[in-house]
Amino acid sequence: MSKRLFYEEPYLQEFKGKILEKVKIDGKPALILDNTCFYPTSGGQPNDLGYIQGVSIVDVIESNEKIIHVLKEGIKEECGDTVIGKIDWERRFDHMQQHLGQHILSGALMKLWGAETVSFHLGEEVCTLDIAKEKLTEEEAKKTEECSNKIIFDNRPVKCYFVEGEKELKKLNLRKVPEKMGKIRIIEVEDFDFSACGGTHCRAAGEVGLIKITKWEKRGEKIRLKFICGRRAWKDYFWKNEVIKNISNKLTIKDSELGETIDRMLEERKEIRKELKEFKEKLQDYEVRNLINESSLKDDGIKIINKVFEEKNFQEVKELVQKIINLDESVVVLFGVKSEGAKILFACSRALRYDMNGLIREAGKFIEGRGGGTPNFAQAGGKKAEGIEDALNFALEYFQEFIKK
Ligand SMILES: [Zn+2]
Repeated sequence: MSKRLFYEEPYLQEFKGKILEKVKIDGKPALILDNTCFYPTSGGQPNDLGYIQGVSIVDVIESNEKIIHVLKEGIKEECGDTVIGKIDWERRFDHMQQHLGQHILSGALMKLWGAETVSFHLGEEVCTLDIAKEKLTEEEAKKTEECSNKIIFDNRPVKCYFVEGEKELKKLNLRKVPEKMGKIRIIEVEDFDFSACGGTHCRAAGEVGLIKITKWEKRGEKIRLKFICGRRAWKDYFWKNEVIKNISNKLTIKDSELGETIDRMLEERKEIRKELKEFKEKLQDYEVRNLINESSLKDDGIKIINKVFEEKNFQEVKELVQKIINLDESVVVLFGVKSEGAKILFACSRALRYDMNGLIREAGKFIEGRGGGTPNFAQAGGKKAEGIEDALNFALEYFQEFIKK
């Protein structure tokens, strides 16, 4: 069993330990020491990182009361049985801020709304808290934050001690009854929250700095809150402030006017989109009539429109074709599109009985492509854009022959 120095001295960053065992974890060398500052992943708190004899620690795990330090590589033999460990303090202190923050937040949720904390996870970026509560309103979330941050501003002392026996535990009014009895470690935020926990925490609420609930959502019977504390909360404030500052500078408005300005801009955008759509439709109608009027052949009452589009995209051309064949009962359309590789589109009015499907299969060869469709509407895509004119000419000749007959 390794002595957990972080229980008594969570602020200890460096220590001397005696090697009790050398093991391998997934092929990596690992050490078990007689005592350690390194916190193993447990109770929702991630493991510490750092060095033993200058060698990086990649993981710290707990197994049968033992704390196993997994190393990046083996330590040098000459250091003997005694090693020096140094923890990554920035990471640990961050965990202490988040963890005590969680106790305070859980305490506030219980005191204000009777909502029990079901589970807690300290993630790389955000922390989550699952609570047993039907729903959480904006107002309730704000009050929870207010109450939590008041505890921080009061700088309530945090005590940490062990108690044993059911009678002693009952005296403490714990937020949640621990699953196992025996010697229980208690974290007490003065006159506010008592809970059983094996993690590492700040010595006073003030060190948590700030608690911010960023989001929450319903998860089955529970509500999952996302929150951040301490340096994480400052970092979050920093980038959000930068974003707001930049946007308001660009719009030359005060940041407090951002909300209504965005609403107004969205409304304007909606109007502009509507107008643009109307203009596009009008333009398309005009284009359709123009194309029909300028059609190349008018023998036997059949109009043939052939054209290669350089800039329009395929979808726009397709819409144009639909309009043409809907508007005119005796039109054949032979279009090519160069903006998206090589595409051709053949269509004819519903009243006409041509096989556009068969024709496009033949013409598709000129663009090294293939395609198909219905007798009235067929399309093909290929690789060879310079073959589009040949494909259209091929189809045009076919119709010239056809009409002559
Ligand atoms: Zn804790």
